[in-house]
Amino acid sequence: MAMIDSQWITWELCPRCGDRAAVGWREVGRFVGPVEFDCRNGCRVNICEVVRTCPSERAARIEHRHVDDARDASEVACDAVRRGAVAITIAAGFGGAARVTIVWRPEHS
Ligand SMILES: [Zn+2]
Repeated sequence: MAMIDSQWITWELCPRCGDRAAVGWREVGRFVGPVEFDCRNGCRVNICEVVRTCPSERAARIEHRHVDDARDASEVACDAVRRGAVAITIAAGFGGAARVTIVWRPEHS
């Protein structure tokens, strides 16, 4: 399955076989919600089960940082990785500015 609707992918346990499965996430307000699921054993799991298995509050919290240029963006991104961020996206903004979106595990405060 191509994870075309997802903004981030994480590896979670499959509710069927317990093996590792790719879960695709999309931003929903302050959190991200699971939108896609792909178990490497081909288990068929509907999205409601995925939501139960990987609830947004357990999976992630979103933080947006606006920075002045690409160098600041990469510094913010590297720092976030060191502090345990799950995923990061950097979007170029107007006039060289950038928006960094950081996905944190909820235990991180
Ligand atoms: Zn499975």
